[in-house]
Amino acid sequence: MQEKSMQSLWSEFLQFMKTRCTPVEYANWITPIQIDSSSEMPTLIVQNVFMREYLLDNYKDELIQFFGADCKGHPKIFFCVQEPKKKASIPSPKPISKKQKFPFDHEIKFNENYTFDNFIEGPSNQFIKSACLGVASNPGKSYNPLFIHGGVGLGKTHLLHAIGHRIQKGHKKLRLQCITTEGFINDLVYHLRNKSVDKMKRFYRTLDVFLVDDMQFLQNRLNFEEEFCNTFEILINENKQIVIASDKPPGQLKLSERMVARMEWGLVAHIGTPDLETRVAILQHKAKQKGLPLSSSIAFYIAEHIYNNVRQLEGAINRLGAFCQLMHLDATEEVVDQTLGEMFQLIPSKQISVDHILHSVSSMFNVSESDLRSSKRSKEIATARQIAMYLAKELISESLTKIGSAFGGKKHSTLIHAWKKISNEMKKNEKLRRQIQMTRHNIEA
Ligand code: ADP
Ligand code: MG
Repeated sequence: MQEKSMQSLWSEFLQFMKTRCTPVEYANWITPIQIDSSSEMPTLIVQNVFMREYLLDNYKDELIQFFGADCKGHPKIFFCVQEPKKKASIPSPKPISKKQKFPFDHEIKFNENYTFDNFIEGPSNQFIKSACLGVASNPGKSYNPLFIHGGVGLGKTHLLHAIGHRIQKGHKKLRLQCITTEGFINDLVYHLRNKSVDKMKRFYRTLDVFLVDDMQFLQNRLNFEEEFCNTFEILINENKQIVIASDKPPGQLKLSERMVARMEWGLVAHIGTPDLETRVAILQHKAKQKGLPLSSSIAFYIAEHIYNNVRQLEGAINRLGAFCQLMHLDATEEVVDQTLGEMFQLIPSKQISVDHILHSVSSMFNVSESDLRSSKRSKEIATARQIAMYLAKELISESLTKIGSAFGGKKHSTLIHAWKKISNEMKKNEKLRRQIQMTRHNIEA
């Protein structure tokens, strides 16, 4: 390809990428690339392997879209890792303005709401909260590293910041950093570009407390992982506190065995989804913060329908608060339905098991559970067993084959037969119908 057309292809690519990444990403990852205009094939000159790896990891689709794919499904381009040539025709990367906010800006700002006082505890997070409190009052001396894992919106970042706040207040002299692994990678790349990696290493390796969020972003970033792991080891060896938050436990992260083993050294704790009472307490706390009057029956009503994570509960309060304020309405059940209806999840039907059914049938019909499971054929036992089968078919949404096997390998046809027989009996026998209804009630309660 002609030098000129390679350059114009490159300008087009830059325009293309501008619409596909944020200005910060563009400045960080795209501007530093140069094109080798003397090459026949599009050849991107990058300053180090990290850049190449990052581009392939994060912009593969865009690269393929623009340059096409080879037979292996990789972008049809070459990479050349070298110091950029200073050619007059090649614009050198623009210096990054100091005003731009970058992750390598080492000033940390904790979210002011993410404090221990604002963290509502319940059975799902009590243990982890006290571990975090322990770390915050005695950094480096209790659990090290402390590894927090759990699904999205359950308070991992909140707890990291709460530790940060507490240490900033109580241990003013300690050098502290809180960063996501994505931020760490950006930081490293920035310093590689600016040939100041030593400065960065000095910064991280002399920290007293290192709070690392979203560990999962380090997966499949081999070269970055190595630098992270080295930093980690140096800090841990000097009893410096490390706290890591991640959406998966260490063993499920696609990281090197060395990194996984290091993370499992200390305390690994799970943060789960809050139970109903905790959800109600969280809703009430958030409503109070917003100045929204919320009765406990309405808080229960919302908490029964939104149960996956705390971020959704927070969203519900924000939406409800705004609506009530704008419309000058109280938060009644009707208003809640109107504003939050689409956020509501179907209440999962209680998980009913065959064991559960056998237990209730056994006490109602005075037949032992082991007899119900046996193949004894005395009339009372056989009828009670058929009632249990009838109820299982009515109440459990599993396949009949699965239910049958929970009854000790009963056939599909046996279950259908039992169900038909009991349904017919119930039409004729009022007493039996009531007994079965009561049993059903007990099971569902
Ligand atoms: P994660 O990092 O686990 O995805 P966050 O820490 O960002 O979750 O939490 C999501 C939102 O829910 C935040 O606004 C946080 O303050 C709030 N939150 C989570 N857990 C609690 C809790 N137990 N008490 C009060 N607020 C909580
Ligand atoms: Mg988070």
